[in-house]
Amino acid sequence: MPRELVTLACTECKRRNYNTTKNKTLTPGRLEMKKFCRFDRKRTLHREVK
Ligand SMILES: [Zn+2]
Repeated sequence: MPRELVTLACTECKRRNYNTTKNKTLTPGRLEMKKFCRFDRKRTLHREVK
């Protein structure tokens, strides 16, 4: 299955903190996950950006 490279950006400070891959078949929409933001120094919601 093809996996697509995506960038995750913090929804609070808008910084791009993570690069990951996703399975486009399982996650057709925007990937969202709670991750630790080192700029906010807490866990925030991170969302896929292009
Ligand atoms: Zn942040």
